[in-house]
Amino acid sequence: MTSYDYDLFVIGGGSGGVRAARVSASLGKKVGLAEEYRFGGTCVIRGCVPKKLFVYASQYPEHFEDAVGYGWTVGETSFNWPTLIANKDRELARLEAIYKGGVERAGGDTFHSRAWLVDAHTVHIEAEKRTVTAERILIATGGRPNPHASLPGHEHCILSDDAFHLPELPASIVIAGGGYIAVEFANIFHGLGVQTTLVYRGKEILGRFDMDLRRMLHETMVEKGIRILCETRFERIDKRDDGKLVAHLNEGDPIVADQVMLALGRTPNTENLGLEAAGAKLGTPRARVVDAYSRTSADNIWAVGDVTNRVQLTPVAIHEAMCFVDTVFRDKPTRPDHEAIATAVFSQPEIGTVGLSEEDAGKQFDDVEIYRAVFRPMRNILPGRQEKMLTKLVVDGKARKVVGAHILGPDAGEMAQLLGIVIKGGLTKDVVDATMAVHPTAAEELVTMYQPSYRLKGGERVG
Ligand SMILES: Cc1cc2nc3c(=O)[nH]c(=O)nc-3n(C[C@H](O)[C@H](O)[C@H](O)COP(=O)(O)OP(=O)(O)OC[C@H]3O[C@@H](n4cnc5c(N)ncnc54)[C@H](O)[C@@H]3O)c2cc1C
Repeated sequence: MTSYDYDLFVIGGGSGGVRAARVSASLGKKVGLAEEYRFGGTCVIRGCVPKKLFVYASQYPEHFEDAVGYGWTVGETSFNWPTLIANKDRELARLEAIYKGGVERAGGDTFHSRAWLVDAHTVHIEAEKRTVTAERILIATGGRPNPHASLPGHEHCILSDDAFHLPELPASIVIAGGGYIAVEFANIFHGLGVQTTLVYRGKEILGRFDMDLRRMLHETMVEKGIRILCETRFERIDKRDDGKLVAHLNEGDPIVADQVMLALGRTPNTENLGLEAAGAKLGTPRARVVDAYSRTSADNIWAVGDVTNRVQLTPVAIHEAMCFVDTVFRDKPTRPDHEAIATAVFSQPEIGTVGLSEEDAGKQFDDVEIYRAVFRPMRNILPGRQEKMLTKLVVDGKARKVVGAHILGPDAGEMAQLLGIVIKGGLTKDVVDATMAVHPTAAEELVTMYQPSYRLKGGERVG
């Protein structure tokens, strides 16, 4: 029998790779994990975590404004960007150590190095200029922001990775994109006092989300002072002698700004990994092909997380890693379940959503009931803030099952987490109706919408 240095070698120390390495090592497997940049990966170092810290920072101006309605006098305030960056970096370093240390404490070996496959069982560890062998290999190399190299002047622009350590906060920014990263950063920069324009080529921001959420968020962002140009594209970016950037659009006047950020999707890191040499066929240009259990076309090589281009979210990468461990090391073949994934957009106001949009439910079911409430949350009343909240349930009219839940407003992400259980559990609207409200909360609206606001029959709105 061939003997290998490792039972499992993981390439990529992000959400998926670290979880797979740590849990496999804790099962007594001999595990190696290589990370070329920083342990923790996109989520911890240049994604979810620093982004959410920035979101919190950007909400303070509204908190200061609202405090007055509650009787507070807020004195002179000021914001210091280097302090935020330094505090954020300290927190990321703490988390990075936890991620790396977790694998090591479980008995795994960590390598601070780029790694690639020499063949199906041999991994080259660049920093150590040596190879190791492994019975199984897990590719968890994630993805990177698309630099949009075909855009003239793209080299003057920043990507989401750069936004986390800009030397100074710009006075103005133009962001290209309409996905959640573009929308979140537009709100972050605006909240921090940056004059912000969002340019999106599609009809409405946040494609694939429920249209109610998209429209209402768009309107609220505009009311706050963010300029949003839909059905508009960048043609080129010029840099002036004074250092300012000029974004030329397919229509309308060019926009002059201190920074231009491109948030135009992410590309899986599949290149230069030696996949062909290892017999793992590359899939479409943008994706690795894995089967329902995350196995590639090479028997002993598996892939999880963003590199597989399935659903690019941290909990999904972690779930896929856990399914991989169950399948390979616990003798419990488990397919990752990508149905009804609850998610949030940390816009301002926040979005929390799970299950089918009204539009998709209309295509899937003959009879759909929509329960919808738009109201001013209590916390906005005394400050005189006009911002409204939306709660919406989408129900399969025949089976009575709740198939979608959509919220726009404070703590929407927290609510979506719990509504995810309702939808995953296949609970009916009757169960929701029978649930006692928690009063006074905004979430109580979700269990007190007793009558449908309207129905869809054959996808068409009636009543
Ligand atoms: C700005 C932003 C905000 C986000 N916000 C959220 C959010 O709020 N909620 C959410 O769920 N998700 C969010 N995400 C997505 C989330 O970060 C990813 O889905 C998640 O990190 C994917 O985990 P992964 O393990 O697949 O890859 P990653 O976390 O990207 O890890 C891959 C790692 O592999 C390393 N690597 C690559 N190639 C090699 C190699 N050859 N050798 C060694 N190491 C290598 C990389 O350096 C990287 O550290 C956000 C992403 C971004 C960019």
